[in-house]
This record gives sequence, structure tokens and C-alpha cells, in this order.
Amino acid sequence: MKFETTLFYKSLGFLCVFCASVVNGFALDREAFTFTNYDLKVQVEPEQHRLGVRGTITLRNDTQTPQKIAVLQVSSSLDWRSVRAGDKAVQFVTQPYASDIDHTGGLSEAIVTLPQAVAPQGTIELEIAYEGTITLDATRLTRIDTPVEAASSTDWDQISPGFTAVRGVGNVAWYPIATEVANLSEGNSLFEVLGRWRARESASRMHLHISVSRDDGEAPQLLVVNQASCQVLYEAMGRSSVTSADCTYQPLGLRAPLFVLGTYGTVDRPSIRVYNLTTHAASAEVYAEATEKVVPLVTDWFGAPREKAQTADLADHDAAAFESGALLLTPISSDNSKQAGLAAAHQLTHAAFSSFRPWIEEGLAHFAQALYVEHERGRPAAIEYMGLHRFALGEIEATSTVPRSEDEANRSLVNTTSEELYRSKAMYVWWMLRDMVGEAALKKAIAAYRPEQDKEPSYMQRLIAAQTQRDLEWFFDDWVYRDRGLPDFKVESAFPRKTMSGSFMLTITVDNLGSAGAEVPVIVKFKGGEIAKRIEVHAKDKAVIRVELPTEPQEIVVNDGSVPESNTTNNTFKIEATDK
Ligand SMILES: [Zn+2]
Repeated sequence: MKFETTLFYKSLGFLCVFCASVVNGFALDREAFTFTNYDLKVQVEPEQHRLGVRGTITLRNDTQTPQKIAVLQVSSSLDWRSVRAGDKAVQFVTQPYASDIDHTGGLSEAIVTLPQAVAPQGTIELEIAYEGTITLDATRLTRIDTPVEAASSTDWDQISPGFTAVRGVGNVAWYPIATEVANLSEGNSLFEVLGRWRARESASRMHLHISVSRDDGEAPQLLVVNQASCQVLYEAMGRSSVTSADCTYQPLGLRAPLFVLGTYGTVDRPSIRVYNLTTHAASAEVYAEATEKVVPLVTDWFGAPREKAQTADLADHDAAAFESGALLLTPISSDNSKQAGLAAAHQLTHAAFSSFRPWIEEGLAHFAQALYVEHERGRPAAIEYMGLHRFALGEIEATSTVPRSEDEANRSLVNTTSEELYRSKAMYVWWMLRDMVGEAALKKAIAAYRPEQDKEPSYMQRLIAAQTQRDLEWFFDDWVYRDRGLPDFKVESAFPRKTMSGSFMLTITVDNLGSAGAEVPVIVKFKGGEIAKRIEVHAKDKAVIRVELPTEPQEIVVNDGSVPESNTTNNTFKIEATDK
């Protein structure tokens, strides 16, 4: 809210008539309306780099007060042509609005005066038209000093005769949105704005009719959309061809509708279709085979895939990969195909399971990757794999040394817009839950999940609680509903005692100096072997465990790396040899 007024007036300088007639002293609430339905006809002309859109959108007033003004935003490279309500043209003014939610670093805003105020929870349908070009543009990154090459390998969206890829909100606003300003130079601002938009739109519906026409005599390119149930048609007549796709996203969930057009070959298998550039045909085969091999593991955990996973090749071999739902856009090279099983575990999980809550949707997909590594190479390898994520997690947790209570709520897994948290931290949370309640119970809880019944943040906890006797409230409080940082375990003391039978009884006190509790493995090493036990240690608390050993204990290690910790330098405890 605090940016709104300053930026608003800055961009207003050139258009002052508008201050008096429309704004009239009160600030615009750009996020007042949720777009509950889109019905769009999208015309793409690759030779002209052109996009033209007509259709209807339905807006619902989600504020407590009647709204007379609606804001519609598209990429700054597109222009508004008309806005109508109930067959009548409505008054609207357009202005540029600087925001990094679009690759161009700006939006074309239509500020629409509605025919009548829309009551709270009321809706209005608008007929809209806009058009323009979409070319490679990494302004939002280059203006914050990202080197040009890196910037265009990240913001690779464009419409062009050779290759077209247009991602949705967050990359290219090619369908209307309404958001407050996002600024890449201000911390997490872009992800916060994007997170709010996605949460508002997660129950919305979008119907798209995309049609691509070419008159240059070239064969039609393959059209890839992040909705496997799309109906795609190819028609050619003489030198002209039309490719069209009819797609419905219902609900949108966390997906931002996107389309890609490429001169692709395909490798089609029961669970995946790979769209590859002709030079990458061999790698595409490897990729598809590797994916099929992961299907049983993913099915066992998350159910059978409900849609076919899709992978589409990107020509720039440095291009940053991008995922949306079960579609992965990535350069398919022989290098990447070695990692295909790992990528497939993630992608197939999205194809099998979906939630509009990022910590569940993405957390489970990353958890599936750790399960895949464990399945292939064992638990230590999986923990090592998760440790690669922990670096990012350690950094982000370290910046919040003393979490304030509002941070605890904002940065909690149920609310966060930070990818490190809803990807890396959530992955660990699922792994810890599996260690705590067991594989069978967790699988049953996941199988019982119904996105339409997920009305409150505690829904998942209740599904898991139904499968176990354990109290999990404290765990969800520390890790999911609040961000209490990470635990910090330390063996406070260890007392070995020789028993009558000649074995050793070791009494270990584990201290948790951190503000988040966890159940952590304790490994006791002795001459000839080791024994691992698990112990629940709550935040800022201690717990005691007794371990019986065949010979004298030598060393205790708390945590095998499966619980993320803020400090791991204090995890080993040497036991002094007792006098013989
Ligand atoms: Zn994902």
C-alpha cells in the first residue's frame, strides 16, 4: 500500500485530466477485484511477433465497500483497444504502470469507470480487447544490473517466427491482471505480489482459444500448453496454416497459463510427452525412458498421474528451466538427461497430486525428489541431496535472527511467498513427518487429500493426525503455522553405566537451543558398531534418552542431517573412557 500513492502520482504527471475526473482524491485499490472467469480468444501471428486478444472477464469485488473503478493490466508492450460492459462501451483511461511483474518492467493499465458501483461480493462482466507485440525483453533484469546474457536466458519469453514461448503472470501479463507494484530491487516484493495474485485467482476459471496463423509456407509448429487436456488442431491450406488450442483451466490453482510454439519432434510415452528440438532427439528418448521408470515410485506415494507430464525443449542451452503444473520447459541436452529421473520425480508428482497451497504442492514435489534419490542410492544420499537445498535455507533463516511475531506468521509455510521456504523447508517438513509418523500413515494422509476440502491451513494436519496416535500440534506450530526458525541440537551430557549383565546403559541429555522443536536421530557409536535412536526435543527444551549398548560407548552424534539445523558444529559428543 505504501508504494501506491507515490508511484501512482509519479506516473500520473503526464495525464492530469485523470486526477480530477477519475481518481478524485482517493487512492486506487488495484487488488479490489478478483478475476473469477476468463473467456479469451487469442490470436498469435509469429511473423509479426503479434498477439491480439478479445473476450470476456468476470470481476468480483472482494472488498467490504462498493467499487466504481476497476483496474485492468496487461504487459506494457500491449495496448488496450476496448472495454465494454453489457454491450455498451465504458469510459476508461490508460496509463503506463511501472511494475516488475512483467518482463518489460511495466504494464499498460486501463482504469475503467464501471457503469455502476459493484457491491461487495458482487460481480461484473467486461468485454475486452487488446493487442500488441511480445518480443524478447529483459528490461526488468537489466535495469537492476543483471548482465544482458544472463537476463535474456532468464526472461526468454517472445513471439517470433522461429520460437515462441509466452509464460503467464510473473513473466508476461498476456492476459489481464490487477496487482499492486512489484519491484525487483525491493527484497521479496515480486514474489509477494505474485503470491497474492495466485492465491486470489486459485479458484478461478480460464477458457482459452489460442489460434496461430502463418502465411509463410512453413510447416505449422507444435503448440504446447500447460494443460494436458487441451484440444490442439492443425490445419494447412496452401501457404497458410492455422494451429489452434482449446483449453480450460478449472480451477487455475497455482498455474499461470502459458503457450509455446516450436519446431519440435516428439517422444510419446504413457506418462510423458517430450517435445524436443530435432538436434536433441536422442536425449529426449533418454529423458522419456527415465521418466517412465519413476512412475511406480510416484504412484505409490501420490496416486497414479492424472494427466500426462510434458517437457518442452528450449533452444538456448543456458536458458533457466521453468515449471508450471506438470509441464517443464528446459533445455534438453545430454547433460540434463542424466538428471532426468530426478526431474521426473518432481514433474510426475505434479501430474499426480495438486494443491493450491505452495508448501503442499511444491513441498511434496521436492520431497518426491528426495524419495527418488533414496530409492536409487539410499538414505544418506537423499539426506545429502536435501543438504544442497539447506544452504539456501540456512541463509534465509539466518537473516531473521530474532523473528518478530508478524514475521513468524508471514514467513510461516502456510503463508510464505518465499520459494526457499515453500520448496526447501517444506521438503524437509515432509521428510520429518515421514520419519515421525511412518511411511504408511503419511501415504494414507496424502491419499485422503482433496483440494476442494482444503478450506483451512490445519486441514493437512488433521488428515495426518487421523492416521497416527502422535500429537503433532507442536510440530505444525513450529514448522508450518509459524516460522520459528530452525532447531539447534547439542548433547548436553552423557553418562555410561555398566550393567550387571556386562552391557552398558548410556543416559543422554539432548538440548535444543533453537526455537523450533523436532524429532531427531541420535547415533551412538561404540566399538564394533553404532545404534540409532530417535528423540523428540521441543524448542528451548531438553530431553533424555537411555540407550543400551553391547560395549563401551565412544561417541554420540545428534542429527543425521534429516532435520535442518541452524548450527551443526555442536552435534558431536565424545565420551571419555571410563576407568577399567
Ligand atoms: Zn514444482
